[in-house]
Amino acid sequence: MLPVEVQKDRLLRDRKGRVARKLRISVTDRCNFACLFCMPDKDKMSWIPNEEILSFEEIERLAAVLASLGIEKVRITGGEPLLRRDLDKLVEKLTSIDGIRSVDMTTNGWHLEGKAGALRKAGLRGVTVSLHSLRNDRFAKISGVDALPRVLRGIEKALDEGLRPVKVNSVAIRGYNDDEILDLVEYARERRISIRFIEFMPLDGLGMWDYSKVVSGKEIIETVSRRYSLAPEGRGTSETSSLWKFEDGRGDLGLITPMSEPFCDDCDRVRLTSDGKLLSCLFDTEYHDLRSPLRNGATQEELADAILKAVWKKPDGVGYMPWIKDGWAKPRNMNAIGG
Ligand code: SAM
Ligand code: SF4
Repeated sequence: MLPVEVQKDRLLRDRKGRVARKLRISVTDRCNFACLFCMPDKDKMSWIPNEEILSFEEIERLAAVLASLGIEKVRITGGEPLLRRDLDKLVEKLTSIDGIRSVDMTTNGWHLEGKAGALRKAGLRGVTVSLHSLRNDRFAKISGVDALPRVLRGIEKALDEGLRPVKVNSVAIRGYNDDEILDLVEYARERRISIRFIEFMPLDGLGMWDYSKVVSGKEIIETVSRRYSLAPEGRGTSETSSLWKFEDGRGDLGLITPMSEPFCDDCDRVRLTSDGKLLSCLFDTEYHDLRSPLRNGATQEELADAILKAVWKKPDGVGYMPWIKDGWAKPRNMNAIGG
């Protein structure tokens, strides 16, 4: 276990007074899927070279420094995180860091059936599985792989192994899967798991995003309310989703609305990319390199200083960046940032 003393005067505070408590760690930019709303054309893809990718030990070291600055919750993501061999070893390392209260993961579900047990044993708390369609042909069209049955088996296995919470994430895109909102909701309710709809963000690699394809949280509520009675629970401080409970008590619905109702004013998240860059906001264009100082022998104190400086400059948020909706020169696509 790495000894970590949280320095109360040294929290990850930015210019707006927001304090980061959650860390998303992308462990790879690689993926075996090629979702339309995420990856560039697979044939034109250039992955981050292996030698630039952080080892588990390097991730552990940076996570420990971040924990000493107040990070409490970690979510592992990618690319597809389960493409990293022995990911359970990283989970074990992260859950052993003092101050880290939970480690969860977001995955496309392809390797979940085979790995859920080991991940649970290693201390993974919950898992969020991305599921954008329940029709085989459409799933294949959206994700580039004919994988629906396998992903569904992965979700069942995660439930059987006791990972909690198990959630489902869906990106609803007009003209692609917006006619499946009720089916996806019903799928989640049958298993009493949470479903989250994320508004399509202009972080895709194919350049297909435009506002007309965004299905807003408001539209989703209108659709779901036609069939079910819903009670609003609101959005907890610093949470990404506003929650709705089904009045019959089966499952719940979350709406993540970065486009129509951004939640940046109390954002408490920072991101570490697989090549060791700290990113204080999904829409930031400045990537703060931590890998070079780390590999050049920086002390814990020096790394902490670099992180504090980077977080201080966190942008106000997507709601204050109107140009994002008109097309912008994004430095990376979602698969390389870690959603
Ligand atoms: N490969 C894993 C997966 O698909 O769950 C983890 C990485 S993925 C980048 C993380 C989340 O971002 C997924 O739920 C995915 O659906 C979502 N996502 C990807 N591109 C998006 C976009 N352009 N807008 C909104 N959500 C997006
Ligand atoms: Fe891969 Fe996840 Fe991006 Fe789909 S959303 S291409 S599964 S990283």
